[in-house]
Order: sequence, then structure tokens, then C-alpha cells
Amino acid sequence: MKQSMSFIPTLREVPADAEIKSHQLLLRAGFIRQNASGVYSFLPLGKRVLQKIEAIIREEMERAGAVELLMPALQQAELWQESGRWYSYGPELMRLKDRHDRDFALGATHEEVITALVRDEIKSYKRLPLILYQIQTKFRDEKRPRFGLLRGREFVMKDAYSFHTSQESLDEVYNKMYEAYANVFRRCGLNFRAVIADSGAMGGKDTHEFMVLSDVGEDTIAYSDASDYAANIEMAPVIVTYERSDEPYEPLVKVHTPEQKSIEEVSSFLNVPKEKCIKSLLFKVDGRFVLVLVRGDHEVNEVKVKNLLEATIVELATPEETKKLMKCEVGSLGPIGVPEEVTVIADHAVKAIANGVCGANEEHYHYTGVNADRDFSVQQYADLRFIQEGDPSPDGKGTIRFARGIEVGHVFKLGTRYSETMNAMYLDENGRMQPMIMGCYGIGVSRTLAAIAEQYNDEHGLVWPVAVAPFHIHLISVNPKIDDQRQLADDLYEKLQKEGFEVLYDDRAERPGVKFADSDLIGLPVRVTVGKRASEGIVEIKIRRTGETEEVHVSQLTETLR
Ligand code: ATP
Ligand code: MG
Ligand code: MG
Ligand code: MG
Repeated sequence: MKQSMSFIPTLREVPADAEIKSHQLLLRAGFIRQNASGVYSFLPLGKRVLQKIEAIIREEMERAGAVELLMPALQQAELWQESGRWYSYGPELMRLKDRHDRDFALGATHEEVITALVRDEIKSYKRLPLILYQIQTKFRDEKRPRFGLLRGREFVMKDAYSFHTSQESLDEVYNKMYEAYANVFRRCGLNFRAVIADSGAMGGKDTHEFMVLSDVGEDTIAYSDASDYAANIEMAPVIVTYERSDEPYEPLVKVHTPEQKSIEEVSSFLNVPKEKCIKSLLFKVDGRFVLVLVRGDHEVNEVKVKNLLEATIVELATPEETKKLMKCEVGSLGPIGVPEEVTVIADHAVKAIANGVCGANEEHYHYTGVNADRDFSVQQYADLRFIQEGDPSPDGKGTIRFARGIEVGHVFKLGTRYSETMNAMYLDENGRMQPMIMGCYGIGVSRTLAAIAEQYNDEHGLVWPVAVAPFHIHLISVNPKIDDQRQLADDLYEKLQKEGFEVLYDDRAERPGVKFADSDLIGLPVRVTVGKRASEGIVEIKIRRTGETEEVHVSQLTETLR
């Protein structure tokens, strides 16, 4: 591409509202421009990186047996009402009406659409398993859009969904997807870790996040310094330590954060109302301990937990208040009876904590199944404690350390959550109707782009790894007004492209200083400069990453570049 004809508006100044490196550099190097808060245009260079990442993802998805399709971003409310998420998703779901006053949503995710699609077409076990994916723009009205592409309100996601007749088949595909994700992020050059994710009520080993290690990450990872153990502690911006007491109805909590912050500090740190911060209460009801997790402002893809979190249940101290809690409406869960169903909620909460924070899916390190008294004793409720830096790792190997991470991917065993609510059934070998077992798998494509920029830069600008660089070579003619230089550069532009290199050709009549500064800022892996020695057929090669330079004769150029 000739730079004179492209659209690469570079900036010398650091944009005032860009706090982190990747955001600053993607703006300065002319890869993106902001339109509204959390809404960006991808300029030609940004678009090319996006396509590179997408190409890698497509290869790995196809290798894992997934097939591409494209679903609508404009989604009818009826589907979301069927799944119940119209009521539970909250303000993050962008909603709108058509001219006939019918409700729609802009797709924040596509479980509903794909479940309806597959339900209507697939009736027999013979057609399963099936893995479908798309790469598409998603919309989420994030409370705090920030850090450029890292948390947008409109962003590009790859989302895949799998449909199965058995748990074994789901497990198999889940493992393949996990591998595919590791390949994608490895090929993108990222320093990442797969971690046991916040699983809500779903069970810790059934979901993993892929975290790019970075100080600007919004998640905290607990990992072992001596093994592969790693878990997201996002369930625990506030840590709760339980103390056992036989006093009924007394909340038995001490609240502190990993950094020993007060709930006020946590509230202002997270910019959420105090009553929406995590709070866990331990009650004794009818001779049983009941733990209620109260938490808001947290996206868990699980209606029950989400609804529980939305219930504003704070500091229940009296029997009357406790009773009120038991009767409370919690969204699609319906009215809660007394007292078993409260215990069910409590079990979810315990499970969420046990899996998401104690985090382990190793035997003896979490509560399997999570039925009170069967899988763990009530006493263990009281012993429940969030993992902390310096703790021994749950796998017995090494010590727990904390690190910050950017969630670039998330794989999830959904089970029958959507097929049951939306009636996605198939006939099994014995002619019986069964709900399809599902998995879902997301990659933040535009977030991945920003995460790469965050990991690959220096004081002069971006430093793209070859696999995702917008072009391989930045070809610069120092002074295109000099015939020798322009001619040689023009020739090389043709020749290098014929050899299969992707070339950005700076043919502009700009001062050399401007061209070199722009070139460093844009950060292509190799620069080829055609300057003073053009008449001898000699050009300079510069490796962006190391700064090494070398003069070569054009006859040797392609060999040297390979
Ligand atoms: P987060 O915890 O960062 O809000 P999420 O858990 O809500 O992300 P998922 O529902 O798991 O996101 O979506 C799959 C992937 O989409 C995420 O792993 C992430 O890479 C990407 N993603 C989610 N929200 C955004 C966003 N606002 N901007 C850019 N990418 C996003
Ligand atoms: Mg989110
Ligand atoms: Mg998340
Ligand atoms: Mg996620």
C-alpha cells in the first residue's frame, strides 16, 4: 500500500484521555479513532491487524471442527424473553424499538439466537455434535468503557457454540476449543495464562478464561509460582472471612479485600454503590447455616447468580428481615420458598465462592456437587476463606502469587441452561426427546488487538510481531524527489510484493525525520530505507524490535529478509 494514498493519521502528542500505552499508541499511530465513548473506527492499519487476528482464529476454529456462519446483531426481544435474560441481563444489553414499537436488542452475545436456530433445524442425534462460530460486532453498554479497545461498548468478538448429545462429547470439544484458544493466543505472540474462571453456579472446571498478563488488566489472577495452577479471583474484590457462631440470624462476617481495603474503599475503587459490593452473610436458619452471597454489578452468564446478586440483601440481622429475604422475588427464579430454596441459593453462593475463589478443581480442594451436608459439612462453610497471596497453592505445589490479567478469551460448558429454557430438543437413539448439551466459547478480537499492542511497544511506538503486523515491511524512500531513490523504491515495492511480502511504501514527500518517526510509531517488523546509496543499489534494513541495522545490496535483499 502506498502511504500517499492510505489513511494513516499519526499524532505527535499523547491524546489527553488515553491512560494506557496501547490506547495512546493505537491512536497516535493512526490505527483507530474514537467515535463515541467505547465506540471506535478501525482505520486501515487497525483493520489489517484485526484481519490478521481473525485469520488466525479462523484457521484454529476450522482445525477444531467449527464451521463459520453469521448471525444478526439485531435480535428480537422474544428470544431473550424465552431464555429469561431479557429480564436478568440488566442495562448492559442495548435495547431498542422498531417503528411498530416492537422490542429488540443489539446482540451482546448470541446464545439465544443460535439456540433458536439450531433448535429449529436439528432434530436428531445423528446431526450432533455441531460446532458453529462467527466473527461479529457485539454491543454492550458497559458501565465504564475505557482503555480504548480493551473495554468498548461496540467490539468485535469471535463466538462459537457447540451442541452435543452427551457430556463426554461436550468435554471432548471443550478440550479442543481450549487447545485452539491456546494456539490462537500463542500465535498472536501473547504472554497469557489459562485460568479457572469465575463460574457462578456452574462449577469451576467447566469454564476457563485466557488471561493476558498485564498490569493494566482489570482481573486479578491467583497463580502458583511452582505449577500450572491459576484461577481468576474476580469473585473476590472483597474477601470474607467466616467465623462460626451458634447465634441465630447474626451475620458472621469480616470483610476485607486482597489489599485489605474497607468496603468503602472497594466501593469507590470499583465505582459501584456500597450496597452493590460483594457481601456474604452466614445465617443459621432452622438449625442449618445458610450463606447468602450478595453482590451486584457483576456479569455472570448465569441467571440465578445474577438475579441473586441483583437482590439487594444487606445486613439481614433480624428474623423478620431474613424471612423477607426468603420470600423475595429474584427474577426468573420466581418467588423463593422457605427454607429449602433459600438453601439452594446459598449452595449456589457457596459453590460460586468455592469454585471461583478457592478456585481449585482438584480433589480435596473444592466442594464437588455442592449439596450441603452431603458434599461438605456445615462446618466447612465457616472455614471458607478466599485465597490470598502467600497462601500455599491448592494443588500443593508452590505459593500463591497475584497478577493482573486482561481476559481475551473465555470457554464455558453451558450444559442445558439454554436448551431447556428454549426447548432445543433432539431425538436420541431410543426415540426419546433430550435437551441438547451446549458449550460456548468467546474471543475478544478487538481486545486481543489492544492486548498485543499493550505487550509490544517501546518508547518510540508499537512493535508488532510478524504474525499480526499490518504489513511486514515499511519501505521508505528518504527523498522521492531524487530520481534514483524514487525509481529504486518503486521497483522494490513491486518486487517485494511479488515475493509475497506485505509492504507499506512511504512514498510521501515528507521530511525524513517525519517518515522515520512515523515508521517507528507504526512499528512494522522491518524497515527498508532507500536513501543516499540508492545509485549503488544499496539499501538499509532495520529490525524494529532490536534496532539493528544492516546495509544490503538489493540483489541480496529478499534472501536477507527471509
Ligand atoms: P469482562 O469480564 O472483561 O467484562 P466478559 O466476561 O463480560 O468480559 P464474555 O461474555 O466472556 O466477556 O465475552 C467473551 C470475550 O469478549 C471476553 O473474554 C472478552 O475478550 C471480550 N469482551 C467482553 N466484553 C468486552 C468489551 N466490553 N470490549 C471488548 N471486548 C470484550
Ligand atoms: Mg463483561
Ligand atoms: Mg469476565
Ligand atoms: Mg467472560
